[in-house]
Amino acid sequence: MMNKPRHIAVIGGGIAGMETASRLAQAGYKITLIEKERITGGHLTQWSHLFPDSSDPAIVVSRLSSALSHQNIKVITSTEITDISKNGQYFNLKSGSEMSLNADAIVVTSGFHLFDASRKEEYGYGLFDNVLTSADLELMMKNEKPIRTASGKKPRRIAIIHCVGSRDAKAGNTYCSKVCCITGIKQAIELNKRLPECEIFCFYMDLRLYGSSFDGLYLTAQQKHKVQFIRGRLSEAAEKPDKSLQIKAEDTLSGRPLRMDVDMIILLVGMEPGISHNNFSRNGSVQLDENGFLKCKDVHAARNLTTQTGIFMAGTCICPMSVSETLENARSAALEVINYFERKM
Ligand SMILES: Cc1cc2nc3c(=O)[nH]c(=O)nc-3n(C[C@H](O)[C@H](O)[C@H](O)COP(=O)(O)OP(=O)(O)OC[C@H]3O[C@@H](n4cnc5c(N)ncnc54)[C@H](O)[C@@H]3O)c2cc1C
Ligand code: SF4
Repeated sequence: MMNKPRHIAVIGGGIAGMETASRLAQAGYKITLIEKERITGGHLTQWSHLFPDSSDPAIVVSRLSSALSHQNIKVITSTEITDISKNGQYFNLKSGSEMSLNADAIVVTSGFHLFDASRKEEYGYGLFDNVLTSADLELMMKNEKPIRTASGKKPRRIAIIHCVGSRDAKAGNTYCSKVCCITGIKQAIELNKRLPECEIFCFYMDLRLYGSSFDGLYLTAQQKHKVQFIRGRLSEAAEKPDKSLQIKAEDTLSGRPLRMDVDMIILLVGMEPGISHNNFSRNGSVQLDENGFLKCKDVHAARNLTTQTGIFMAGTCICPMSVSETLENARSAALEVINYFERKM
């Protein structure tokens, strides 16, 4: 290639950013990867086991982290990009007033933001001691903490609630977060392994299991791990004097209202657009879609291209995705960047 090295800035050091950066570095480009947290890895650093195979997310993160030691990659951590703009032939990235960086192209890999469960007041997150989110449970299991109620007892009954902050017009999100049904099944299985005596119920609207092995996991959850699935949406949770919880729902298969006493509730929180998206779209550098994720140029033919030539994107800043989909998407973004520079030669 004639004009190498070109300089590409990758915003976000989650798995999408790490994979994109290493693929582009291997192709000979100079990369600056900027991550707002102290360490790279993104949300995977908070998870315990990965569906569909119960593997350790640390293995994925450590493989991708080693690839960042490539001589063409510079990693800047603890730096949040707050503004991107076009400046003549370059793009300019800013982190407040502290850092300014020019690049020939940008790949945005800024990921997703977890839905704040306290916005669903009726579920009692932040109010009742024994209401947790799926992200809290992941962290608890990752840190090998025994699963106990706030008062230290082994829970005898746990309800897992699907679609918290997704497919919910009142919460402002009508889209499906795609990975939470299978996350709920994964977590139900992991809970059963740790608490074989505990009854586990999943309350779902529909089960959206899109991966080839996901239906198998659903059957395993029922047959081997005795997880019970109830089609119904939780209307509210109330805390009892002993801190256990009563939930009210409608069983939408039988059409009957349902009340159940449980010791713990796990809310499967949805994936929302990353909070940087508004900053990136502020001066028209990129556009957002109807859900607030980054808008692509063509949903069929150009999923990694934003509406601004020279700014690409990969991973869950586009829409909810699993780990394998995110990594595939990152590789396809790297290819788009390479094609872009080859066309410019
Ligand atoms: C509860 C839960 C459990 C899950 N379990 C599984 C599972 O078992 N298996 C599976 O396949 N998938 C799972 N997923 C999905 C998985 O988490 C995602 O596929 C993956 O995290 C996507 O990676 P990403 O790089 O796109 O985004 P992220 O992980 O969100 O990484 C984005 C990175 O960008 C950084 N960043 C953001 N804005 C800026 C900025 N302005 N400047 C600099 N840096 C920035 C962030 O700090 C972060 O490090 C789960 C999701 C949830 C919610
Ligand atoms: S994946 Fe399942 S739990 Fe998540 S929003 Fe879609 S239907 Fe609801």
